[in-house]
Amino acid sequence: MAVLPILKWPDPRLSTKCAPLEDPRCDALIRDLFDTMYAANGRGLAAPQVGILKRVFVMDVGWKEGTHTPMVMINPTIMAVERVPLTMEEGCLSLPGIMVPVERFAAVTVQWTAAEGDIHMADFDGFEARCIQHEFDHLNGIVTLDHLDSEARERAEAEYARENR
Ligand code: ZN
Repeated sequence: MAVLPILKWPDPRLSTKCAPLEDPRCDALIRDLFDTMYAANGRGLAAPQVGILKRVFVMDVGWKEGTHTPMVMINPTIMAVERVPLTMEEGCLSLPGIMVPVERFAAVTVQWTAAEGDIHMADFDGFEARCIQHEFDHLNGIVTLDHLDSEARERAEAEYARENR
């Protein structure tokens, strides 16, 4: 077990597009990602948030409510979406102290490789759909702030600076 340090924005590694994870035998990395996510009281964590620039993330959206649904997504692609935009406030372990309104699709179809190497495809909606899109953004070097227009971003960055003085 290893709880890794989580990179804080504006670390440039959080703005870097990640490379595919070629070797699916990454049990140690996945364990570390879960350990780090739970220790930080988060519901999702992407490898670049701990400085590993590979396309993998973990999530467990209901664990705080007692419903454990741990998922690992390696090299995910969002295949199709229900194009209903939905705006909600999102936090991020790499942007502590602020919540940012982000427009996401209400439902997504995702294809990914699971930890055992099998390829899966499934539909997600609700909080899972939002979490997947958030973590998927991290694999492409995108954080919540990048969804804001320049005025809202300036306000959010100022609040972030105050919160992380
Ligand atoms: Zn995040």
